[in-house]
Formats: sequence, C-alpha cells, structure tokens
Amino acid sequence: MSDTQNPQPPNPQPLSGNEMPRYGGIATFMRLPGRIDPADLDVAVVGVPLDIGTSNRPGARFGPRGIRDESVLLRPYNMATRAAPFDSLRIDDVGDVAASPYDLLAAVDAIEAYFDSLLGHGLITAAMGGDHTVVLPILKAMAKRHGPVGLVHIDAHTDINDTMYGSKIAHGTPFRRAVEAGVLDCDRVVQIGVRGTGYAADDFDWSRDQGFRVVQAEECWYRSLEPLMAEVREQVGGGPVYLSFDIDGLDPAFAPGTGTPEVGGLTMPQALEVIRGCRGLDLVGCDVVEIAPIYDTSGMTSLVGANLLYEMLCVLPGVQVRD
Ligand code: MN
Ligand code: MN
Repeated sequence: MSDTQNPQPPNPQPLSGNEMPRYGGIATFMRLPGRIDPADLDVAVVGVPLDIGTSNRPGARFGPRGIRDESVLLRPYNMATRAAPFDSLRIDDVGDVAASPYDLLAAVDAIEAYFDSLLGHGLITAAMGGDHTVVLPILKAMAKRHGPVGLVHIDAHTDINDTMYGSKIAHGTPFRRAVEAGVLDCDRVVQIGVRGTGYAADDFDWSRDQGFRVVQAEECWYRSLEPLMAEVREQVGGGPVYLSFDIDGLDPAFAPGTGTPEVGGLTMPQALEVIRGCRGLDLVGCDVVEIAPIYDTSGMTSLVGANLLYEMLCVLPGVQVRD
C-alpha cells in the first residue's frame, strides 16, 4: 500500500480523453500506463484469456481484449459513489497470463503460478476472464496467501458440478473443486442470481449443503438488492473475501455476449448494487468472467464488463470516497 511518509511517484492514472482521443493509444484497461512494475502496485488488473473450459459457445478468450477496448470510455471518478480509486491506490494493467490454448490442465497451473507471483507483491488482483475455469487457480493462489476466503459469486449457474463430460476441470466445476481443495470458507460464501434449467431439481442443493447461501434470481426480481447486500456483508465479513462476477449473472438483455446465457437474470442497476454493496469488505481479489465479445456486435457486453470491473476497483479496501 502507498505510504504517505515516503515520497512515491504519482499514482498511475488513466490517460485523459483530452490528452489523447479515446480511440487512440495502447489498449490497456481504462488507458492505464500498462508499464508499472507489479512490485510498485496496490492493485494489478490482469487478463486471463482462456476459453477451453467452456461447455457451449467459446469466445471468452477474447474477453480481456473486449473489456480493454470498451474501457476507453471510462473516466476516473465515480459520480454515484464519489469513489476515486486511482487517487487512492496504485493501479495498473499488468497484461495477460500466458495460458495454453490447447492444454487446460497446463493452463490452470500457469494461472495459479502467475497469481502466486502477483500476490507475492502483497497486491489485490482484478482479473478479466476468460471462462470461469480461471477462478479455481486464482482461489488456490488466494488461499495460499490469505487462508480460506469468503466468496461473493454472481452467476446464472452455481458452477459446482462434479464433472463435465467426465472432466474434473471445466467452467462448470470450479467451486466444487475449490471446496474440495479447502480454499473457501464455506459459511462465508454467497451465490447470487442462479436460475434457469437444471439436470435435476436438487442441482443447487450441493451448494446449500456446504453452507453456501444461494440466492436464486427469482428472489431478486422486481426489487433493490441493497437490503440483500447488507445481509451479505454480515455473512461474509470478518475475513478476506473474493468477488467473482460471471457476466451471465446479468440478464442477456444487458449482456448477450456470453457462452451460456440464461433468461430472467439480474438487471444492470442490480449488478451495480451488488458490487457497491461490497464496500467495507476485506476484498483480496475480484474478477469479471465469461465475456465472449463475438456474440455481441454492439460491444455492450464488454462495456458492461469494463464498468463492473471499474466499480469493483471503487470498493476495494483503501479507496477514499470524496466529500
Ligand atoms: Mn460461472
Ligand atoms: Mn454462468
């Protein structure tokens, strides 16, 4: 963390649209410099381009590029919450994990090793997926650093299958593997927005049997999620927390560019309420995953993802809120 007693170089800042047109420059997240040593950062924005864990439509390997492209429109101050993340924390885009496009098991090992090295600098990671397989190696790295973590998980799916097509590692299994690996503090886990069709009526029960709170999408319909988030803070506070946002938690009306869309999802204002409701938690890492820009010619899904990641930066520990 930045130490005000010791002079430090100025915090990295997004390049202003008045210095370089928004469509110009190098495509980093929010036009950050993209060249600061992770050892000098409080927060590393990192791409994890991987989609060989997907079960239906591939394309999340292009998620980080899509998010970076659409993030050019974002400005540094949050006009709703008055958060100023770049004034408070040293944040930069550190690039992408080199994950194999052919060997999923090798890819997850590479992701875990990369996150081990980032977390060795004592920073917070803000990841851009990639399909949801990527959260398993990330959570393993988190637990090595912080011990078992609480989890706020937004998704249309619980992602707790035992196997998919016989494979233990896939984008629908990471949270079961995480429980088995002992990297989650199960009483401090909440899954929000799950819905759709299942293989059996008890599909979500395994989560509940572990102690997770499961909030189905129907419980969210037609209402503000601010009261829910007060309960969530009560449940998951008191220890390190990871925030994982599968873009398919949103309704496909807001985020059509994803591999396994489900109707009847969260609205965009509800997504903002969920993330803003995480303020005050001891967040140690966060992600936005499953954005597959190729199914969305408008770029809207990537724009949503860029905004969600920005909102996450705004609620990290240490971010000052301006009066
Ligand atoms: Mn998922
Ligand atoms: Mn999902």
